[in-house]
Amino acid sequence: MSADPSKSQTAGPLAVAIVGAGPSGFYAAAALLKALPGVEIDIIEALPTPYGLIRGGVAPDHQSTKGVSRAFARTAGDSRIRFHGNVELDRDVSLAELRAAYDAVVLAIGMARDRDLEIPGAGLAGVFGAASFVGWYNGHPDFRDLDPNLDTSAACVIGNGNVAIDVARVLLKTAEEMADSDLADHAAGAIRAAPLRDVYLIGRRGPVQAKFTNKELTEMGTLADCAAVVDPAQLPDEVSGEMPARDRRLAEKNLATLKGFAAGAPDDGPDDGPDNGPDAGKTKRVHFVFYAKPDAVLGEGRCTALRLERTRIEDGRAVGTGEFFEVPCGLVVPAIGYSMAPVAGLTLDAASGAIANRDGRIDPGLYVVGWAGRGPSGVIGTNKAGGDRIAELIQADFPQDGVRSSGGKPGRAALEQLLTERGLRRVGFADWERIDTAEVAAAPSGAPRRKLTRIADMLAILD
Ligand code: NAP
Repeated sequence: MSADPSKSQTAGPLAVAIVGAGPSGFYAAAALLKALPGVEIDIIEALPTPYGLIRGGVAPDHQSTKGVSRAFARTAGDSRIRFHGNVELDRDVSLAELRAAYDAVVLAIGMARDRDLEIPGAGLAGVFGAASFVGWYNGHPDFRDLDPNLDTSAACVIGNGNVAIDVARVLLKTAEEMADSDLADHAAGAIRAAPLRDVYLIGRRGPVQAKFTNKELTEMGTLADCAAVVDPAQLPDEVSGEMPARDRRLAEKNLATLKGFAAGAPDDGPDDGPDNGPDAGKTKRVHFVFYAKPDAVLGEGRCTALRLERTRIEDGRAVGTGEFFEVPCGLVVPAIGYSMAPVAGLTLDAASGAIANRDGRIDPGLYVVGWAGRGPSGVIGTNKAGGDRIAELIQADFPQDGVRSSGGKPGRAALEQLLTERGLRRVGFADWERIDTAEVAAAPSGAPRRKLTRIADMLAILD
């Protein structure tokens, strides 16, 4: 980076770059502003839109979870912060260049890739990892053209975490139930037109090991046109075995919820005659299938079924029993966790798949926070503590309240010079606010916004 060397020796604010404008980036920014009043922070984001998973990951019908973006917008409005959207690490600017320009660089880049489903047939048409499928229905520009063929009556969602539940619910809610969501137009049309009747949520372990939070699981029993179905024979009488108290409480609640589903579930299929229970007349089913390990996606060119192996639990692990069965389906969505794209010059930790670090520090001057640092776990609020920790680390490494006396780096001036030299189009926070205003103004009745899903359309708003 062609930084002005005279500036690099002057006193001034501690220059911090945060890469990634998702929850972990914003929580880190807020914590740094508080801990180091003299700091100057640049938030660098690949998309023209901020908020990361709040916009592109959180389910479109869970608007209350997205409310935290109002706090992030207040953080972005602080005069010590500048947002540089439409600037991507490695594509537009390298980590080495950022490290040369800033006193501290914080990587808050999340985990954008699907963990591989390592079974035969995983590459067939009709198989879409949750990162791309969720990105598609949330209008993420990278997945705008995914075009999943939803011309199928049955889908399998693999995994027993909240992402799996999100995918199933978004596929199964009625258009009326989604009316107050920000489901992207292209996805709303495709889901509405799909003849989907049965969604199978596949867990390789049992109901006690499922990772759904209870609120999300309970919601599956409240859908307007979908009955929750579970085989009571798969539900133990009670939660047994050693586990932390918190996990036990969750398992007990989930088990009670699933027993409620089993008690209320229709014993007939959609077309098998009258059902007088609370689910009478519902045309769709979500089937909770436990103890079933994916073995192969079947089909010629396109998936037509998922073959599963029944499992039993040994020492907490799913062990195959050698008994196989098939679920006919035209769509398979593995929601089995995320992995990281390699970042030049950094090592990934074999266990977590995240960037190797010591409690958030990679080197003095280089830090990592959020999923990129701990792996893909935890809810949005989990990242607040991570942000606080990063501020503590930076405070320890630069103990001058964010004002360095000398020897510091040029920060923002150097980044902006580089963007200009490269002819890159930076989207500032005020630009984003114009995009936001346009989306809100275009919202269908009852919906919070109509999302722009192509970068060119977002930039066109600004021209
Ligand atoms: P997750 O909670 O870790 O669940 C992943 C699931 O995939 C587990 O059931 C896991 O089973 C299963 N799995 C992994 N590899 C598999 C394989 N090869 N074959 C079959 N199953 C496999 O992850 P997530 O659902 O992606 O969620 C990520 C984080 O975001 C979680 O902390 C989640 O709570 C959070 N989140 C929260 C919300 C919300 O609050 N509403 C919404 C979405 C996401 P095992 O347990 O057997 O490994």
